[in-house]
Amino acid sequence: MTIASRLKTIQQQINTTAKAAGRNTQDIHLIGVTKEQPVSAITEAYQAGLREFAENYWQEAKIKIDALTALGITWHFIGPLQSNKTAAIASHFTWVHSVCRTKIADLLASHRPSHLAPLNVCIQVNLDTETSKSGVHPTEIVHLAQHIQSLPQLKLRGLMAIPKPSDTETEQYESLSRLTTLLQHLNNNLAEPLDTLSMGMSHDYIAAVRAGSTLLRIGEALFGPRTK
Ligand SMILES: *Cc1c(COP(=O)(O)O)cnc(C)c1O
Repeated sequence: MTIASRLKTIQQQINTTAKAAGRNTQDIHLIGVTKEQPVSAITEAYQAGLREFAENYWQEAKIKIDALTALGITWHFIGPLQSNKTAAIASHFTWVHSVCRTKIADLLASHRPSHLAPLNVCIQVNLDTETSKSGVHPTEIVHLAQHIQSLPQLKLRGLMAIPKPSDTETEQYESLSRLTTLLQHLNNNLAEPLDTLSMGMSHDYIAAVRAGSTLLRIGEALFGPRTK
């Protein structure tokens, strides 16, 4: 199967699921996750119409961003954030989904070049506090959100999570719906409501569309198995 045919199938599934859930497909963006995939995979998806791509590691992202500058891709950073990479990330990406500390938010803000629009930011939430290490605890979301909103170089957009794997679509839906509820709770505490839920990967994107996702981050279902 080609990347183009996989993309078409996934987009049709998203459309069908969105319609059944009473959602507008325009509110749901598909992001191709290209870690451990070659530049040619990105070009192929781009030629098939995909415009948004995500990477997890700066060193790997840099090679692809440099190779593809002519294409006008919107790049999303979704990996762990180290202080010494924040300058490069703040200059080369349009979105960062994985902010979970005030210090990292401060660094991204101070390094965002002034000729660029504010960096779009999501707070990564640790939904399964017993099993996963990355993301803020749900009780810390409001504090971090208010801090990010005090930084003019950043634009807080919403929440992101990677729930622990579940076997059934019902379990996936329940897990993902917790992030939807946390966004509603956060919006009750903010002057301007946020609109973004970054959730849904290759194994749970159908449940994610039902649960309210606006940014789907899909890797292997689109590009095939990762090389490593
Ligand atoms: C790798 C990765 C994805 C994509 O995972 P797939 O299972 O290949 O769809 C999405 N989000 C994050 C944060 C990732 O690290």
